[in-house]
Amino acid sequence: MGTFLTLLVNFLYPPRCAACAVRLTAATPARLCAYCQEHIERAAGAQCSRCGDVLRSATLAGGATLCPRCVNNPPSFRAVYAATIYHSLDAGSDNPVASLIRRHKYGLDQSLSRALAECLPDPLPLRREAYDLIVPVPLHRKRLRWRGFNQSALLGTELARRLRLPLAVGCLRRVRATPPQTAQTHAARLKNVAGAFALRNPQRISGQRVLLVDDVVTTGATVDECARVLLAAGAAVVDVFALARVL
Ligand SMILES: [Zn+2]
Ligand SMILES: [Zn+2]
Repeated sequence: MGTFLTLLVNFLYPPRCAACAVRLTAATPARLCAYCQEHIERAAGAQCSRCGDVLRSATLAGGATLCPRCVNNPPSFRAVYAATIYHSLDAGSDNPVASLIRRHKYGLDQSLSRALAECLPDPLPLRREAYDLIVPVPLHRKRLRWRGFNQSALLGTELARRLRLPLAVGCLRRVRATPPQTAQTHAARLKNVAGAFALRNPQRISGQRVLLVDDVVTTGATVDECARVLLAAGAAVVDVFALARVL
């Protein structure tokens, strides 16, 4: 694109931070402003080594620190790794990742992939040798059509590129549209997603060490159900990577 056209487009549609909408200088290729980049929360205090929940009372089991729920009712996945944390999706907009997810929940933004990628730490807290396949948590086709994109698939694409691992899109499918996970308890959330996922070609999963990718993990009920389906199809292990772990 010619310089004049670039200037014109920037004049008509000045680039804005994907999280807080502050105007960005036209010179920067970044999609998040410097303030937002600096305010991405990376780590909390003690977290459960299985589901990543914040620990109020911990149980030490074989060197791992587990929350009471993972002790009493172990999830299907092995562990949750999260790029960022925040304390509530609906709380104030001071957390850039929360605002990014909220702002883009209901509409297509072509530059969202880049903004999501800017939230990922470098290096990633993942070893590429530990996995064979990346599987994003799918949206139901109706919601996908309405929204135009799947944030988890955009993240999965970025992870596949950075880890040089294959990405399986369309393999895990959401066969039942579920109401948004508004329920507060883990048990209610598990019930909401029970039977919502199925595999199109289970042989693709058999024997594979899967990295399951979701944008936001709250209680882990959705990724637990996905992991259960993947393991039933013969996946060797399922770990979860989330853009954000809500604590
Ligand atoms: Zn910003
Ligand atoms: Zn746990």
